[in-house]
Amino acid sequence: MIETGHPIDLHTHSLRSDGAFEPAEVVRMAAARGVRTLALSDHDTLDGVAEAVAAGEPLGVRIIPATELNTESEWGDVHILGYFLDPADAKLEARLRWLRENRGRRIELMVERLNELGHAVSLERVQEIAQGGALGRPHLAQALFEAGHVASYDDAFVTLISKDSPAYVSRVGLTPLEAVELVRAHGGVPSLAHPRTAIDLEARLPLLVQAGLCGIECYYVSKDPGVHHGSAETAHFLALAEQYALVPTGGSDFHGRGEHGAPLGGAPVPPGTISALEARR
Ligand code: AMP
Ligand code: FE
Ligand code: FE
Ligand code: ZN
Repeated sequence: MIETGHPIDLHTHSLRSDGAFEPAEVVRMAAARGVRTLALSDHDTLDGVAEAVAAGEPLGVRIIPATELNTESEWGDVHILGYFLDPADAKLEARLRWLRENRGRRIELMVERLNELGHAVSLERVQEIAQGGALGRPHLAQALFEAGHVASYDDAFVTLISKDSPAYVSRVGLTPLEAVELVRAHGGVPSLAHPRTAIDLEARLPLLVQAGLCGIECYYVSKDPGVHHGSAETAHFLALAEQYALVPTGGSDFHGRGEHGAPLGGAPVPPGTISALEARR
């Protein structure tokens, strides 16, 4: 066992959304790196949670059921992590299904746009890559790379599918406040993911807190210097957490696809984080 990670990781993805590995594989890989508590936080779905729990049990890894809700607004990339949600909550599942359907329609529109631009990719291939998981731009990026339209997975984002790029289509979805409210309404604990991707956060954080935000991802590591938290950023967000009585959370945002995210257990999440989050249920 190579114990090179931190024991808590509250932000990970699997093949149920845009990660590259099955939920059980993510759990086994996390355990091998010394992770003891893992939140599987696939985009707009709780589908991988049961498999992760089953895989975690014999390995002594506690699974926190979670999802990451990407929002659409003028606030930039505001992603809300919802912890302790119930995969058997039918009303919540209906909302998540609506979000996944919107994801699918958006990717369909982006495929159309790419074809018009002369970068032929088929929706069928993108769906194959996703293997039934909630569709997202990472699947499209992989299809573009395979087809030779871009030099790398990351290059697909840079040149074609990031915001303000030619093939970008905005999503139909929740606003940041609606995402926070949705998590609260279903008994979950909402936390703001990778806070550097939000625009003008200081002005908007009070509104998120008022809507029920409970945490903020202070510990976040990335190869992208624009979103990575060095000691200065961590200190900055810890101060905001203190000011608004938010639980400082953290995670790797592991995807295992492209270079996005960090290795499992890659963020130094302090012990005590889980009980602090549980106290906010
Ligand atoms: P979507 O949910 O379809 O809007 O796609 C957003 C996802 O794409 C994020 O959750 C990341 O996994 C990935 N992503 C976003 N920006 C980049 C980037 N610049 N390079 C690589 N992956 C990215
Ligand atoms: Fe993702
Ligand atoms: Fe995110
Ligand atoms: Zn994520």
